[in-house]
Amino acid sequence: MKSKGYHHDHIGGRRLHGDTLMLSYGFDPGLSEGAIKPPVFLTSTFAYPTAEDGRRLFDETSGRSDATAPGGPGLLYSRFNNPNVQIVEERLSVLEGAETCALFSSGMAAISTTLLAATLPGDVVLHSNPLYGGTDALIRNVLRPRGVESVGFLDGVSESAIREAAEAAMALGRVAVIFAETPSNPTNTLVDIAALGRIAGEIEAEQGHRPLVVVDNTFLGPLFQKPLELGADIVVYSITKYVAGHSDLVAGAALGSKSAMQAVKVLRPLLGPSLDPHSAWMIGRSLETLHLRMERAFQSAERIARWLDERPEVTGVCHPALLPQDAPARAVYERQCTAGGATFSFTVAGGEPAAFATLDAFRIIKQAVSLGGSESLACHPGTTVHSSLSKTEREALGVSGGLIRLSIGLEHPDDLIADLEQALAAGGAT
Ligand SMILES: *Cc1c(COP(=O)(O)O)cnc(C)c1O
Repeated sequence: MKSKGYHHDHIGGRRLHGDTLMLSYGFDPGLSEGAIKPPVFLTSTFAYPTAEDGRRLFDETSGRSDATAPGGPGLLYSRFNNPNVQIVEERLSVLEGAETCALFSSGMAAISTTLLAATLPGDVVLHSNPLYGGTDALIRNVLRPRGVESVGFLDGVSESAIREAAEAAMALGRVAVIFAETPSNPTNTLVDIAALGRIAGEIEAEQGHRPLVVVDNTFLGPLFQKPLELGADIVVYSITKYVAGHSDLVAGAALGSKSAMQAVKVLRPLLGPSLDPHSAWMIGRSLETLHLRMERAFQSAERIARWLDERPEVTGVCHPALLPQDAPARAVYERQCTAGGATFSFTVAGGEPAAFATLDAFRIIKQAVSLGGSESLACHPGTTVHSSLSKTEREALGVSGGLIRLSIGLEHPDDLIADLEQALAAGGAT
């Protein structure tokens, strides 16, 4: 079968929508016996026709010569590249508006490779708080003993608070990275990404080196928040969550311009956290329904957040759509997010005993950590995902005994509300 090309993203002068591109972009049936779906390329290595081709492939893969093919260098060895991985990398790049993407075997592999690629002993990481537990432990327990310091800031919507932390960071060494997670987990506080870009410029003026702005976009991306357009250099993901979306695999990604991503691309094959072709194939399938799934879950979640806000058993709901009009975070939300997300927390009156009784009474919603899957999940952050923090640290972040985190899935929202109603009644009776 003759190839018709597989990087069409325009018809006439019109750019195609992401949902359309997720069904075709990056895969050429002509290269796979006309198969309408990509086969799973279960192979560790790829045959090259001549010794001269072998030399060219090694020159391209090692960066000694420029690869001209749209997918980068030709296929060589599955730790470097694999067709299933490349298809997903190209589709994610299109959605994110990034020049290039590196897929990883987990979100933590993407984050640790990116941070290791960007820092040297004596450097400092300036970061938002709170961070995902694994990222926080990486910075504290792996980077710090290797001579990379860190300074955190709590109020990510106050440019002056971030600037103050930046000055403290510059006093410790060269600020190599500004890392932010927005919205944060579990309280959905926001970080002003455009402000991070401006502060990176100020740090550059002072220390002569521009820090890399890295944003963990797991909660809203790639559809409802575009950090690269707002001034970030690299976007990282736990693909495990919304992008894969079915709680059936673990994967991660980092995306950005070719120059911002170069060190990440060099380090990945050396550390070796490559994604297996089967998981990559499953992500390709997930991308076909990404828009449908995220839109449905986000709509249901906003409705449920508003419903919870009216309940007598509930004392607070942390969902960006409920931010008061005059809150500084409201302006950031409206500037940088086009939806509020489907993972959020709420607080029940009666503290931990009431929260536990509510959680144990759920019939549809299951108790588990993780988020972004097709099924709704709930957990008690204080005793699970944030249990390694001290009580003082938890209090500073607003992680109280009565806090429950929900990840709203694809069930009918009426049924989820019915489940929440009976569980809140059971929790309130304790
Ligand atoms: C889950 C998660 C991670 C880690 O991703 P894994 O795929 O579990 O390694 C990083 N950041 C955020 C915001 C997450 O939710």
